[in-house]
Amino acid sequence: MLSISQIRTWLGALNEVYTKQKDYLTELDSAIGDADHGINMARGFAAVTEEIQKQNPQDISALMKLVAMTLIRTVGGASGPLYGTFFLRFSQAIDGKDSLNNGDVYHALDEGVKGIMQRGKAQVGDKTMIDAWAPAMKRLEELVSSDMPLSEIMSLVSKAAEEGMTGTIPLVARRGRASYLGERSKGHQDPGATSTLFMLQAAADTW
Ligand code: ADP
Ligand code: MG
Repeated sequence: MLSISQIRTWLGALNEVYTKQKDYLTELDSAIGDADHGINMARGFAAVTEEIQKQNPQDISALMKLVAMTLIRTVGGASGPLYGTFFLRFSQAIDGKDSLNNGDVYHALDEGVKGIMQRGKAQVGDKTMIDAWAPAMKRLEELVSSDMPLSEIMSLVSKAAEEGMTGTIPLVARRGRASYLGERSKGHQDPGATSTLFMLQAAADTW
C-alpha cells in the first residue's frame, strides 16, 4: 500500500533529482529545443515543495491536485501543462482513497498518461515523453497483479521507460518544438522522455 507520506517523499525526491539533473535536461533540450527543460522542471518541483509545506494537504487527491496546479502555474513550456494534466488526472482517479494498492497506482498512472496523450496528441514514436510512458505502462500492466513489492515493480517499470527513452534517439520528432527541426531532430535523446524516466526512478526509490 502506498501512503500519503510515501507520495510526499516521492515529490521531495523529484525536487532533488530535477535540481541535480537541471543542467543535463537543459543540455538535452538545447540540442532539439530551446534549452529550458531542466530549468522548467527544477523551477516547477521547487515550487511544488514550497506549496506542500505551506498548504500541507491532508489527503492524496488534494496533494496531487496541488502538484498539478503548481506545475501548470510555474513550469513554462509544453511540459508544464502536460505534467500538470498528468497529476490532475492522477488526483481525480484516486479521489477519496487514504492509501493506494497496486491496482490503484496502475489506474492513477494510466489515467495520468491518457491525459498527457489527450492534451498533447502525441503517439508512440513521435519522440516525446510518451515514448517513455507507454512502455512503462505496458510493463506495469504486466506486473500489477504479481506478488512483487511495489518498489520492485516500479524498478522494472523504470527499466522499460529507460529503453523507451533511449529509443527516442534515432526518431524524428513529430510533436513539440523539436518537430520544427524535422530530420535534424534525429540522433538526440528527447528531454521529456528523460524527465519521465527520472520521475519513475524516484518512484522506485521511494514507494
Ligand atoms: P518547450 O518545448 O515548450 O520548451 P519543455 O522544454 O519544458 O517545453 O519540454 C519539452 C518536452 O516536452 C519534450 O522533450 C517532449 O518530451 C515534451 N513534449 C512536447 N510536446 C509534447 C506533446 N505534444 N506531447 C507529449 N510530450 C510533449
Ligand atoms: Mg524547451
